[in-house]
Parts: sequence; C-alpha cells; structure tokens
Amino acid sequence: MNLSRRGFFKLTGATFAAGALAEVFGPANALAADAVPELRIMGATESPSICCYCSVGCGMVLSVIDGELVNLEGDPDHPINRGALCSKGSAQFNIRNVYDPESGELIANPYRQQKVKYRAPGASEFEEKSWEWAIEEIAKRVKDTRDRTYETTDEKGVTVNRTLAIGNLGGAALDGEECYLVQKFARALGVTFIEHQARI
Ligand code: SF4
Repeated sequence: MNLSRRGFFKLTGATFAAGALAEVFGPANALAADAVPELRIMGATESPSICCYCSVGCGMVLSVIDGELVNLEGDPDHPINRGALCSKGSAQFNIRNVYDPESGELIANPYRQQKVKYRAPGASEFEEKSWEWAIEEIAKRVKDTRDRTYETTDEKGVTVNRTLAIGNLGGAALDGEECYLVQKFARALGVTFIEHQARI
C-alpha cells in the first residue's frame, strides 16, 4: 500500500482515536449502567399527603406499587416545606414498613397498631374492639359527660353555658379547615378547654 507521510499520520491517528474512544466509552458505559440501581419508584403511583407529626404540616409524596408503600419523601411542590422533611418526618416511612433485622427485607411494621384496643376501668388487659364500637362509645360518653356537667351560670350567677369536664386537643394531622370545624363543634358543646398539639 502506498502511504504518504500525511496519510500515515491520518491513519494511525484515526486508529488510535477509535481505540481510545472504545476504551473510554465502551466499558465505562457498561460499568456505569451496572452501577446505577433501578429506581425504586419506577412505575409507582404517587399520592400527596401531610406529615402527621407536628403542626408545621409538611407535604409529602407517597409512592405505591401494587398496594405497597415503596417510598416517602418531601413534596417539592408543597409551599410549606418545598421538598424538605425533618428527621422525624423522614422516618415516617417506618410507621408502615421496617427492615427485618434477620433478613434485611422490607416488611410490614409488626408493631403498628391497626385495631382498636380498649381497657375497661379496673381491667388489666386490653381487649380488641371494632371501629364502629369505638365511635359509638366516644359519642355516648361525650354526650353523657356534657349532660351531667353542663352549667348555664357560674357561682356568681353569670351566664357561662359551658362544661368544664371535657377538653379538646387538636392533632397535627388536622389541617387549618379541619381544626376550625373541630373547635366550632367543641364550642357548640360548651367546651372551654380547647388546645392544639402544636402549642404543647
Ligand atoms: S414533624 Fe417534621 S416533617 Fe413532619 S410536619 Fe413537623 S417539621 Fe414537617
């Protein structure tokens, strides 16, 4: 093959460059692909939610695949926290799932309470009750207590229309509108001790 000096440099340069590119990009690409794990939220349905722990009310995004929670993180579109969660909020994933200390597998949290547990006055053991029973019982006891303790005037004859036997404590999982309704309901019953978890 007749090869001029210029042609020789062109050919060897091109060969070297091709070899170098294959060296750099071929195996490296394969290694990079191996090193990147599949996203655990791939194909997940995302639902917005609110952290239940404190009154800041940070927004979260829950990712669910086949009915299983696979990820929980701060909602970047939420105006309060803009994607951030404190350590307590970040650990909220473990309310539902924990890593099995034996197998290292993600399992349902065996300590999560999902049923009503009731301990009757004087009893030493809890018994399981239905949600319907609990709602009825709470309503019945609130009404009984209010009816027994409602007072229209105080000891000086001043009109008060109140009961001092019931207290109302709001929780962090309630949003502003829900808190408004709850305290309206409490005031309608004559409850004067109205507080919120945020102030404790
Ligand atoms: S506990 Fe943390 S993440 Fe949850 S609402 Fe409060 S500040 Fe936000």
